[in-house]
Amino acid sequence: MPPPPPVGRFAPSPTGPMHLGNAFVALLSWLWAKQQHGYWLVRMEDLDTQRCKPEYARLLLEDLRFLGLSWEAQPLLQSQRHRLYAQAVARLQAAGHCFECHCSRKEIALAPHVDETSPSCTGRCSPGKGRPTSLRFRCRPPYPSFEDAVLGLQTPHPPPPRDFVLCREGQYSYMLAVVIDDAAQGISQVLRGADLAGATFCQIQLQRALGLSTPAYAHVPCVEDSLGRRLAKRGGALSIAALRERGMTGPQLVGLLAQLAGMGEGHPTPPEALLPYFCLAKLRGLRPQLGEGGFNTLWTHGE
Ligand code: GLU
Repeated sequence: MPPPPPVGRFAPSPTGPMHLGNAFVALLSWLWAKQQHGYWLVRMEDLDTQRCKPEYARLLLEDLRFLGLSWEAQPLLQSQRHRLYAQAVARLQAAGHCFECHCSRKEIALAPHVDETSPSCTGRCSPGKGRPTSLRFRCRPPYPSFEDAVLGLQTPHPPPPRDFVLCREGQYSYMLAVVIDDAAQGISQVLRGADLAGATFCQIQLQRALGLSTPAYAHVPCVEDSLGRRLAKRGGALSIAALRERGMTGPQLVGLLAQLAGMGEGHPTPPEALLPYFCLAKLRGLRPQLGEGGFNTLWTHGE
């Protein structure tokens, strides 16, 4: 029997209009799946109801269509999947993987042993009036390593992964939902920004605790602005919608994104035409920076 086709995904958080960094990840994850004749699924990570908006989710799908990236199946909405997350938490609790924490974010931020990327319980909290209640996953050694298709072997360097939040005041965390949904959607390969490489150690621990398989991972360099800062929606990064309004076409944009990924000279192209040139290993050490090549004319600082 031939192996089943791979399943990739794009899992944006609809907290604002998609920017070039998001489009870069979307294009590369599509290429990875399609180069192997696989499926490509979309999932809206819209758990944060304060920041996520349905109109941004709609716009995201419009932008993907504009880029010529097609997906299989109806996009999954995390906001509609609370029951599944609750079931997973119950299983983890029953198996002794969790503990309650009552630290406030401020207390954690001020605790000396905690680093910014992996906040954890201070170990000195107790329940009380007005104190938040979080359920944390207890990370235990041996901590997993993984082979990243771009970065190579990743081992958790000290400090080890911290006990991360599964649920806080009734709100399920990204870490929990991403693991449940990657498994539920049958995702076999995850391509995303390198800023999430560290989260993978936590996600693999959670997969193991739940008896789920671990997908292949590829963490690609994040697109930076002309000053070397990672693009962020909050930073007002140039949106795909804004480029569309300026009259840019999908193939033009794809050509420029491909150039950022080291493929070609920035000439307009449909995504399919890039399939023969796509190579994950070549993304290693690359620094996709705006303000070079074709984006020079489009990118105005501070926009
Ligand atoms: N929703 C996350 C984001 O938009 C991506 C999560 C993931 O790919 O695992 O940054």
